[in-house]
Amino acid sequence: SRFNGPNQEILEDRLGVWEEAEDALAFSSGMSAIATLFLAMVKPGDTIVHSGPLYAATETLIARVLGKFGVNYIDFPAGASREAIDKVLDRAKAQGRVAMIYLESPANPTNALVDVEAVAASRDAAFADTEEKPPIAIDNTFLGPLWQQPLKHGADLVIYSLTKYAGGHSDLVAGGLLGTKAHIDIVRSMRNTIGTITDPNTAWMLLRSLETLELRMSRAGENAAKVCRFLADHAKVERVGYLGFLEEQGDAQQADIYRRHCLGAGSTFSLYLKGGERESFAFLDALRIAKLAVSLGGTETLASHPAGMTHISVAEPRKSQLGITDNLVRISIGVEDADDLIADFDQALATI
Ligand code: PLP
Repeated sequence: SRFNGPNQEILEDRLGVWEEAEDALAFSSGMSAIATLFLAMVKPGDTIVHSGPLYAATETLIARVLGKFGVNYIDFPAGASREAIDKVLDRAKAQGRVAMIYLESPANPTNALVDVEAVAASRDAAFADTEEKPPIAIDNTFLGPLWQQPLKHGADLVIYSLTKYAGGHSDLVAGGLLGTKAHIDIVRSMRNTIGTITDPNTAWMLLRSLETLELRMSRAGENAAKVCRFLADHAKVERVGYLGFLEEQGDAQQADIYRRHCLGAGSTFSLYLKGGERESFAFLDALRIAKLAVSLGGTETLASHPAGMTHISVAEPRKSQLGITDNLVRISIGVEDADDLIADFDQALATI
């Protein structure tokens, strides 16, 4: 049972269908999927090229854990141009074997999108003369599988924290990896060795979740569009970092990536209030329907304060570089009635 099981296999087949992937694997968490992928692909002296920022535990895994085993990394900011990515890949190549190009898009909490097509073109050009091409892996937790399908834009592997939208009920922890059979086979043998497969009961719960995946994500996406429109026009709001507003906010380069890569704007976004920590805390304390908690992609709306919660251990200079300010509230919209959510945000904003 450490290798496989009927529930897990059905789950993997159905996950693969969503992104038309050749093969898929289920894991005990998003992080165990990511860790198993790295263990399978890297060896001492290799370099990992990655977009930044990444989910904090992924950054820790690359920099601190793999760093202890002599694995190097070079990062580039999500949103980088083809030219900038070319330069980073040249630098990485000069250091020795490039094991993997690892992306996360949109980045958390900035929502910056990575140009996967540009990364794939850059990788293909940089490694045209070499026998081995580093695979491109991307964490698609925030938009997948409904709103972004990166295998169609040149990625070889897609990673999921199934704990979020795919699970959707905040009652399980699991991870997924989808992609080309050749790469998945390498990771499967590592999973067999270290036992990071999901358990049969969680796999069964995920099969239940997948029945409503499209319904839940569609409703959450529609709700987010209405809530964001309300918030963007509110006097106490400085800015709403929502992918649906890239065009009107005049960010031509990000809007271009959005048009080419995304099928929807998602339901997780950044709300910048006028003020600072005091205003953010007052707002969060006053919410009645939205719950104060981290995580995202569940049926219930969640709100959190990254500077004081998920990113509290991040050093101040890095926080400001990432735009993690005291007036930032992260929101993940669920499947409630949109007008109820708007009324809740309205009354909470009135208290600050
Ligand atoms: N990737 C992203 C983008 C995440 O937001 C998270 C969790 O918050 C993970 C990976 C890790 O997933 P898990 O909590 O299932 O290990």
